[in-house]
Amino acid sequence: MRIVQKFGGTSVGSLERIRKTADIVESSLQEGDEIIVVVSAMSGETNRLINMAREMDANAQPREVDALVATGEQVTAALLAIELRRRGIKACSFSGAQAGFQTRGNHAKARISNIESRHLTKRLKQGDVPVVAGFQGVDESGNITTLGRGGSDTSAVALAIAIKADRCDIYTDVDGIYSTDPRIVSNASKIDRISYEEMLEFASLGAKVLQTRSVELAMRYKMPIHLRSSFEPVEGTLVMEEDETMERETITGVAYNRDEAKVTILGIPDHPGIAANVFGPVAHAEINVDVIVQNVSEKGFTDITFTVPRSDYAATIALLETTREKMQARDVLGDNTVAKVSIIGVGMRSHTGVARKMFEVLAKESINIQMITTSEIKVTVVIEEQYVDQAVQSLHREFGLDQPET
Ligand code: ASP
Ligand code: MG
Repeated sequence: MRIVQKFGGTSVGSLERIRKTADIVESSLQEGDEIIVVVSAMSGETNRLINMAREMDANAQPREVDALVATGEQVTAALLAIELRRRGIKACSFSGAQAGFQTRGNHAKARISNIESRHLTKRLKQGDVPVVAGFQGVDESGNITTLGRGGSDTSAVALAIAIKADRCDIYTDVDGIYSTDPRIVSNASKIDRISYEEMLEFASLGAKVLQTRSVELAMRYKMPIHLRSSFEPVEGTLVMEEDETMERETITGVAYNRDEAKVTILGIPDHPGIAANVFGPVAHAEINVDVIVQNVSEKGFTDITFTVPRSDYAATIALLETTREKMQARDVLGDNTVAKVSIIGVGMRSHTGVARKMFEVLAKESINIQMITTSEIKVTVVIEEQYVDQAVQSLHREFGLDQPET
């Protein structure tokens, strides 16, 4: 099989870890697989480099910052190639530009436009093991660019697609995706197989195991991702296309996000254009609005409630205070102690009563639901933050996700 193996920061965080990574590459080669490696910088290194640039000049030119931070990945690529060569493996390191990653868009958040992979493919055919620096590429003008934090996941998936790999293995410091946060539910269970869509829903709720863009890309090209640990030789979670075997009895997992705040605009005249009046300025300030509820209007007036990231709460309230008069709203209220809890699963497509069950479970726990939103494979509620643990635990249990104690 042709496999792209990507190793994250903790997997290459020291020379010792790089040797362990070399062990993994070596044993895959012994099994007869064709391997291309993509690496992150050593853990903490990207932050260290960014901080150095800032210390030199808080307004450092983005072009130079990119040139600087891209070195982090080049260091690990070269070190891993050195170690593989010491073992007699024909490894060869490549920067993103050398590997053919062409990008467009701004520095620090460039996007991959094309991978000129002929060179790498030729190396592979010669039996070489390319070790590619993730997170970077080169733009039309020849400048080094980086892909945004966590971008080496996207490098790996894009490369896997370009060289028509069978799979992209992403090695990290967790051994897979769990049915919920094990810090809240100690007997959460590892998910063997998860669909791209479910993975995206988990990610959007703050489970930052994979860069979201990498999952979107994998979904578009149906590239299976095996998310697994480089610390323990166990099967991880396969992120793949939904299939019949995923028609699970229950939901797949329970996710949450504490980083939420709620804003309510009271008593706005209900006529066409009010939502645009409210959300125009908010969008303009680049504040990400999530759950939105507009009440049925009474006597020509209505209320709108929505959530924003907690870090944008103060700015949102301030903004609405300044536009309140223009909106002719009676009042603006807010609460920055709310949180979101979601149940996620493709099983919802074929099973009815899932949302109802969620509401019953929360009612039994006397947890008040403030807002509700649904998609085809997700039901989200907004509740008081102090009830997050209780909500997650009870939902996980009542939907039968608790692993039997062993
Ligand atoms: N080293 C980069 C970062 O920390 C890219 C990556 O690790 O994916 O964001
Ligand atoms: Mg990462």
